[in-house]
Amino acid sequence: MSKKVLVIGEARDNKLRNVTFEAIAAAKSVSQGGEVIGVICHYQDATELAKEMIFYGADRVQMIENENMKTYTSDVFAQAILQTVEEESPEAIIMGHSSIGKDLTPKLASKLDSGLISDVVEIDYNGENVIFTRPIYSGKAFEKKIITNGIMFATIRPNNISPLERDTSRSGEISKREVELSDLRTVIKEVIRKTKEGIDLSEAKVIIAGGRGVKSKEGFEPLYKLAEVLGGAVGASRGACDADYCDYSLQIGQTGKVVTPDLYIACGISGAIQHLAGMSNSKVIVAINKDPEANIFQIADYGIVGDLFDVIPILIEEIERV
Ligand code: FAD
Repeated sequence: MSKKVLVIGEARDNKLRNVTFEAIAAAKSVSQGGEVIGVICHYQDATELAKEMIFYGADRVQMIENENMKTYTSDVFAQAILQTVEEESPEAIIMGHSSIGKDLTPKLASKLDSGLISDVVEIDYNGENVIFTRPIYSGKAFEKKIITNGIMFATIRPNNISPLERDTSRSGEISKREVELSDLRTVIKEVIRKTKEGIDLSEAKVIIAGGRGVKSKEGFEPLYKLAEVLGGAVGASRGACDADYCDYSLQIGQTGKVVTPDLYIACGISGAIQHLAGMSNSKVIVAINKDPEANIFQIADYGIVGDLFDVIPILIEEIERV
C-alpha cells in the first residue's frame, strides 16, 4: 500500500547534507509509490535547497524559515516539524542518522507517541511490510524490524543507501510555512568550531584515520595530505585523541563516530575492538602498521606492514602520479 512519507532535510553552511538525498531515496522505498514530502528548516530563503530535494526525488517540499534556525536546537526544530506533521499526517518520517538526527528524532517520536528505528542501513519491502535492517552489537550482527502500527519513523546511517540520480528536469511544489515558536528554552548565540574545515567525517567516502602510532600532532600532517589528494576526511582512534594528537571530534569507534566510507585507511592503529565498532563496516579497509601481528590486519582487505611515515609519502606520490 502506498504511503505518504516526510523526509526531514538537513543543511549545513547553506548546503544540503548528502544524507538528505539518501533519506529521500529511503523514503521512496518506504512510500511504495506514495508521496514523498521534503521539509527543510532554515534561517533564510531555502528555495535552492528545496529545489535540490526535488531534483533528488522529493515530490514537493515545505520550507520552514525562522531566524532561530541558524543553529540547530531540538527545541526549535521539534516545534517546527511537529506542526508540519500535524498538518500533513504522514504515515512515515525519515531522517539521516546524523548528530542532529540522533538528537531530534527521539524527541519527535516521543511527542508523536510512535516507535523509532534508528541507524537503518537497508530497507526492503516483502509485499506486505516495510522491513528496516540495522546493525546491533557494535556491527557484529544485524536485526530486521517492522513497525506494525503508528507512524513509521526511521533514521538512516549515512553512506549506506544510494541517493537517486540528480534530475534537474524534476519539478514539484515548494511552499513556505510560518512557524509559531513558544517557550524557547535555548538560544545559541555563537558556534566556535574546533576542527579544521573540510569534509564531514560521518559522510566522507574516504577516511584516513590515525592512531597512537602517529606519535604527535605534527605526525597527523601526512594523513591530512593523503586525505587531500584522495578527497577524504581525517579521523582518529581514541588512543590518538587521548594522547592529545587531535581533537575528540575526530574519534571513531564505540564511544566516537560510526563511519562507513568506501575506503578506510587505518594508520598506526592497533585495531582494538572498541575502534572496530566504529569502522568495521567500511567497504574497503586498508591498514598500515609496523607490527605484522596487529589486530587491525584481521579485518583489513589490504595490509601494509611498514612505518607509516615511510608508506604514506609513497602513497601520496603514486596517487599524484595517476
Ligand atoms: P595503540 O593500541 O597503542 O596502537 C598503536 C599502533 O600503532 C600499534 O599497533 C603499533 O604497532 C602501531 N605503530 C606504532 N608506530 C607506528 C609507525 N611508525 N608506523 C605504523 N604503525 C605504527 N578506541 C577507539 O579508537 N575508539 C573508541 O570509540 C573507543 N572507545 C572505548 C570505550 C571504552 C569503554 C574503552 C575501555 C576503550 C575504548 N577505546 C576506544 C580505546 C581502545 O580500547 C584502544 O585503547 C584504542 O583504540 C587504541 O588506540 P590505537 O590503536 O591508536 O593505539
